[in-house]
Amino acid sequence: MKQCEYCGKEISYHEIYCSEDCQIKANRFYERCEKFSIPFTAVNTVCVFGIPIGLFLMSFLKVLGTVVASGSCIVLGLMLIIFPFPTEGMIKKFKIKKAIRIVRILGIAVIVLGLFIAGMLTFLGF
Ligand SMILES: [Zn+2]
Repeated sequence: MKQCEYCGKEISYHEIYCSEDCQIKANRFYERCEKFSIPFTAVNTVCVFGIPIGLFLMSFLKVLGTVVASGSCIVLGLMLIIFPFPTEGMIKKFKIKKAIRIVRILGIAVIVLGLFIAGMLTFLGF
């Protein structure tokens, strides 16, 4: 059985989307992906490197390291929530709607992690 490329609902063989609404949403999604893919990738790359660099700095520069690590987590998390662009593999597996939701949940998890790192310094002063 084929599934709607956007919402994952079952559709007949000759269709791609279950409704016009899904087609419009899918098109809008791909347009946004294309438009924002470069800044999205650039910011994410910086943040993905920022987290381990920050954690490394924490061993001797506590405050700076914490700011870099938790800041990177929070920026990365916000990016994932504002621009939830899943990978092609995720879209294939989960379809667009569900893949977007997974990326957003991941974004929230990363922000929580960032707050946790910041909290460690503030509350525990380790
Ligand atoms: Zn659909």
